[in-house]
Amino acid sequence: MHLTLSHLPSKQDIKLVYPRTPSSIDPNNPPWPAFRGYHTYSFAYATMGHRLPTILGKAIDDVVETLNQESEEDRVVDLVDCIKRMDELKEDLQAHAKLRPIIDDGEADVALWNKEIAKYFQGKDFMNAPWLFAEAYKYRRLRECFSVSKLWQQYDVFFRQKCDTFSRSGDAVFELSTRFVEPFKHKEGLSAQEKLDAERLMFLELTQICLWGNSTDLSLLINMTEEQIKSLQSTGGENLAATEKNILGNDMARLWEVVRDLKDTGGRIDFVLDNAGFELYCDCVYADFLIQSGLAKEVRFHGKRYPWFVSDVTKKDWNWLLNMMVYGHLFPKVTDEEVESLRQLGLRWKQYEKEGKWVYEQHPFWCTGYTYWDLHNEAPDLFLHLSRSDLVIFKGDLNHRKLTYDCAAPPSTDFEIAIGPMASAAGAPRICSLRTIKSDVVVGLGPNGDELADKLDKEEPGWKISGKYAVVLLSEGRPGEKVRFA
Ligand SMILES: [Mg+2]
Repeated sequence: MHLTLSHLPSKQDIKLVYPRTPSSIDPNNPPWPAFRGYHTYSFAYATMGHRLPTILGKAIDDVVETLNQESEEDRVVDLVDCIKRMDELKEDLQAHAKLRPIIDDGEADVALWNKEIAKYFQGKDFMNAPWLFAEAYKYRRLRECFSVSKLWQQYDVFFRQKCDTFSRSGDAVFELSTRFVEPFKHKEGLSAQEKLDAERLMFLELTQICLWGNSTDLSLLINMTEEQIKSLQSTGGENLAATEKNILGNDMARLWEVVRDLKDTGGRIDFVLDNAGFELYCDCVYADFLIQSGLAKEVRFHGKRYPWFVSDVTKKDWNWLLNMMVYGHLFPKVTDEEVESLRQLGLRWKQYEKEGKWVYEQHPFWCTGYTYWDLHNEAPDLFLHLSRSDLVIFKGDLNHRKLTYDCAAPPSTDFEIAIGPMASAAGAPRICSLRTIKSDVVVGLGPNGDELADKLDKEEPGWKISGKYAVVLLSEGRPGEKVRFA
């Protein structure tokens, strides 16, 4: 046999590897190149090599503090064992150990974790597995340190930190509570159009408050001073016009149209939550307005089943916030009026819960290593549930990474392309991502997005991790279509 030129692939046939075709995408091979811990100089590298060991070190300090205040021998011994397991995890992390299966600790997600490890990550370690999976795996292993214990199964190593940060956010907390304690009402004598305009302005302002409330993510702010946190939290109106310039992909106008059209019947809006404390408080202020204005008749909040990425919301954090608002003494040097505004707000929110207008949920899928490209396949019940929502708002950086498969998609990529089946599957709900940019993946910046990102790379290195910039991105989905599973 001899070689003829016609047997060689022509130039035109050479296909770009990225984006991969849907059938060749899996958790170790995202649609565009994955971020991995061994990419020196990347945020993934900084996270896996430095940030996670630091977070784990602080977590161990917290448990030691708890240990030192414990008196019963069986509880002390049991907790010492938890600390030993945390030390082992820290060593595994620093030695770039291979990812082992999760021990069966009775959690609802064990099978999901071990299936994913077996299918896609055999022989992989903390540094060469995709960053998203490796980072999530670390938090699952941290959970295991306690879930296999006898007496400390529910212990949250981050709880103290979450409470402290909220307690130090007093200025912003009272700014919002004194302003929003009076239920939303229109002024006398407005026309229908004027009322709608007032609602639109309030909606846009609260969308930004909810967005920028995401700035205080404890897993990402380990070196931030109190002053820096305060400046991120300031919520004044003039400020918002300025901060809107920093929303690089901005679908807020379309988002308003979606929400406005729910008004006649009152829609169901879901929040897939990010952080506890101040961010959760901002989410609730926003959700409160959605209920009062009649735009929504039902709001569902989706939190985590156990401590996750330091500051993510658990049921305990949710209960803590509402109870501290009503009964707590968290803030020194406050006026009676301020305390009362917070109390009234808390009472109103508890009432929403009693009436079923607000519902808190915690599906096991949210604490797995899967991205949301796999939500349809791996958690069909959750997909079906979300498909019945009129709008699902995903908060924060981790949710955004999971929506977009956390890979190096070009910044000009359309949000609906970047989130794959969450936009294209039959019955996919409308989705909005409210995210301050704190890690590498950036999409939805529009046709000139690649140039814009290049420019920022040159002029403001670190723009992707500073939290100064944000995106508000909307996917129309395929609502109303019948959901199908293979
Ligand atoms: Mg978080």
